[in-house]
Amino acid sequence: MVMSFQFPAYFTAIFIITRVMSIMKISKPLDVHHKDIRAVDLATKLSVDPSAVESASRDFGGIVKAEPEAVLHPSAPQDIAALIKFSYSNSVPFGIAAKGHGHSVRGQAMAENGVVVDMRSMANKRRNGTGIRVSIDRLYADVGGEQLWIDVLNATLEYGLAPVSWTDYLYLTVGGTLSNAGISGQTFRYGPQISNVLEMDVITGKADFLTCSPRMNSELFYAVLGGLGQFGIITRARIPLQPAPKRVKWVRLLYDDFSSFTKDQELLISKNGRKDKSALDYLEGSLLMDQGSPDNWRSSFFPNKDHPKIISLITKHGIIYCLEIVKHYDDRTKHTVDKEMEQVLQGLNYMPGFIFGKDVGYEEFLNRVRSGELKLKSQGLWDVPHPWLNLFIPKSQISDFNNGVFRGIVLERNITTGPVLVYPMNSQKWDDRMSAVIPDEEIFYTVGFLHSSGFDTWKAFEDQNKDIMRFCNKTGIMLKQYLPHYSTKEEWVHHFGSKWKVFQHRKYQFDPRMLLSPGQRIFNNN
Ligand code: FAD
Repeated sequence: MVMSFQFPAYFTAIFIITRVMSIMKISKPLDVHHKDIRAVDLATKLSVDPSAVESASRDFGGIVKAEPEAVLHPSAPQDIAALIKFSYSNSVPFGIAAKGHGHSVRGQAMAENGVVVDMRSMANKRRNGTGIRVSIDRLYADVGGEQLWIDVLNATLEYGLAPVSWTDYLYLTVGGTLSNAGISGQTFRYGPQISNVLEMDVITGKADFLTCSPRMNSELFYAVLGGLGQFGIITRARIPLQPAPKRVKWVRLLYDDFSSFTKDQELLISKNGRKDKSALDYLEGSLLMDQGSPDNWRSSFFPNKDHPKIISLITKHGIIYCLEIVKHYDDRTKHTVDKEMEQVLQGLNYMPGFIFGKDVGYEEFLNRVRSGELKLKSQGLWDVPHPWLNLFIPKSQISDFNNGVFRGIVLERNITTGPVLVYPMNSQKWDDRMSAVIPDEEIFYTVGFLHSSGFDTWKAFEDQNKDIMRFCNKTGIMLKQYLPHYSTKEEWVHHFGSKWKVFQHRKYQFDPRMLLSPGQRIFNNN
């Protein structure tokens, strides 16, 4: 096995392991009664096994590959702190990337020639619910940064409670989504997941292990939320909970006219008070474009009998816009929810006859993407390249975007078959002190091109993505990338805009040796 390593990589990994042990003053043979047993553990948890290294050099995107020297499988936050401390105090520090579930698409959780921290190892070690602790009295859950949102959902539902802000797909880690934003159809009302955190435990790039909140170490708290992993590794987040609904009324409406579609979306999100019972609980939107099935891997919704009429509509118009809304209900509201939904639908300008509804359990709704994933996995189509592009577009320019991109570039190129999401959010639900960046308008849209491609065809999608970016630059569309990836410092400075100085200052403050999440290529791109 050793022979399969490239010599320098193997050498460095052994060097790291030996140095970690020596810096911790551990000598062989290991003494099980050694007072610093955790340091002993650390060395034994660093792996240079080819399969571990290979797995840490890839992600869901399937486009970028970067090999670390070793992978740390921590069983406790102290292991991570020890690793960071070692690199921080080394004359030649190495990069360290937390890897949540590896669902980034551009190598953001990779650490070339450094060490990847496989956060999920802690979930395994902390099984039996200890990684998710629910406080019923105080309505919050203390959740390990390595935990998957699906596990958070299941654990909190046991107490009839649930967080309020989600992602569409739940097999993502808490640390991974909080490093970006965590958006879905609840964002217009509750804000992104980063707006729904009470406090966190974070290990900074200086190996300081700090609890932070809006009142305690607040600079670190706001830095880390949407901070792209640059300031510290989140080992615990306290997530507020609410009583969970039992079921949902789930409705999709079709539009052939973009302006009616966006007007209705904007009208619906204007009711967005957290406690406003007449507000919707979820709102998204998407494009229907394929001539195959109106369903895609992300969701099967439309009854089979209605497929032909939807397909002929798509054929006629090229693109159909699909508005998707949800209202929760439980035993108390089950007799009134239909009437409430009727009121919501009144005055909307969807195409007559093109309204479709479902009534499903709350958990089934939240976990709606999972069945598509399992189907694709069974067909070997999940682990393919994903040349995704996710953008935030100001409301004032979404119509230009529709004309130039959806009806221009996308229809002309005619290669997009995957889901394309488009739905609005309210800026006021985002906290400007956080690192996440959004357009400078009260309402902005998220647009997600969630392409799956063949191993030989992803470049065509990349070209389309570049075309879209070029078009927006040329026409002055003030977009921000979500899950951003750039290759030059200038682009990053432009991305952060007025937040760049603060972002940079925070980096010097919390990770002065630039150790963390090097795969984002923000401070190490030249
Ligand atoms: P990783 O990809 O492992 O890591 C992402 C970044 O966070 C890296 O820089 C990493 O170093 C850092 N990081 C990871 N863990 C920690 C930690 N504990 N502390 C500090 N930094 C950390 N996003 C949405 O907002 N809404 C969606 O609906 C949505 N749907 C998705 C569906 C699919 C199928 C996929 C593949 C992605 C989706 N995403 C969505 C994007 C997703 O939120 C991001 O890719 C997220 O980073 C993935 O989480 P992860 O746990 O896999 O993180």
